[in-house]
Amino acid sequence: MSDGAIRTMGETTRRVASANSLADRTILLVDDEPANIRHVREGLAAHGYRFREANDGTEALRSLREVRPDLIIMDVEMPRLGGVEVCRIIKANGGEGGFGFIPIILVTARQAAGKIEGLELGADDYLVKPFDMLELSARVKSMLRLKALQDAVLEKNRELDHKNRELDRANKELAQKREELLALTRTDALTTLHNRRYFEERLTEEFARSTRYRSPLSLVMMDIDHFKRLNDGYGHPFGDEVLRVVARTVRGKLREVDFVARYGGEEIIALLPETGPKEAMGACERVREAIAAIQLEHRAQDGTRKSVQVTASLGVASVPAQSLATMEELLRAADTCLYEAKGAGRNCVRQYQGE
Ligand code: GH3
Ligand code: MG
Ligand code: MG
Ligand code: MG
Repeated sequence: MSDGAIRTMGETTRRVASANSLADRTILLVDDEPANIRHVREGLAAHGYRFREANDGTEALRSLREVRPDLIIMDVEMPRLGGVEVCRIIKANGGEGGFGFIPIILVTARQAAGKIEGLELGADDYLVKPFDMLELSARVKSMLRLKALQDAVLEKNRELDHKNRELDRANKELAQKREELLALTRTDALTTLHNRRYFEERLTEEFARSTRYRSPLSLVMMDIDHFKRLNDGYGHPFGDEVLRVVARTVRGKLREVDFVARYGGEEIIALLPETGPKEAMGACERVREAIAAIQLEHRAQDGTRKSVQVTASLGVASVPAQSLATMEELLRAADTCLYEAKGAGRNCVRQYQGE
């Protein structure tokens, strides 16, 4: 008969469920007198328990390494390793990695009873020989119930630990998904630049910072020249591709800290923190030249290839400036300059000249 030392959760559940019957429980009987063991077995025979036997303390400990009984009934007076010592050893190694909780009923002769009074020895119960079988049977039942409850509590704790770990994992995943979602709500799908809504948030922040510290801040508005012609001549999908390439080019020509967003259809806006008019003008020229240098090729359905030119016009304004007290005024100034650049023949930069 082998009752595995490692119990599966399912088995424990079944055991708890059948706690009322308490049959199929394993009881380890430890006594140096075979007659005593026989006596107990016979007395408990009607309950359907399984029994293991050990004839002294050493054998009892050896048996515990193979089998985890639900209860130990053990004689105190045994040669070499007595019941009291074995009891101490088992209780001292009761942790999760050790024997776990195993209730122990010590059995002693009447003259030694005083010694185990008060259960100071760590036993869970004790009986004085000769004992009444009904008494033994009642104590065994109560100890087996205790053990079943203890197992149930342990299992619940384990389940709870497991659930807590799962909850932690789910929370982390949720936080990550939220981040992803937030990034998505700030991104323009076509160009993967930031979108206008996020730009407006950032402009508010950067403008406030610039006002408070009187730090320079420049705003660039750019618009692709004759984009309608590209769409009309080569098709909307080609226009989309041009937009993506222009967006990538602008992003690549500005600093990491510069904030680039798609503002409208084929309009891109950039916020350059800590950048005054002179540096801003330099950056705009760099961007304009890079866009004009883009090598585009349109491939028609009949296979003919044609190289396509793209240019953009840019308007730029900077704060601090006396005449630009609000964010809206800064935006309007850059927009007016962009309009002037268009008027001046396109593919050029116009800068706000206010004080
Ligand atoms: P201008 O030099 O004066 O800016 O001329 P334009 O043709 O670029 O100006 P307009 O504002 O008249 O046209 C912009 C065009 O951009 C019109 C619109 O169909 C196109 N457009 C806007 N959004 C998209 C887009 O996401 N993809 C494509 N392919 N075209 C777009
Ligand atoms: Mg004995
Ligand atoms: Mg345009
Ligand atoms: Mg436009």
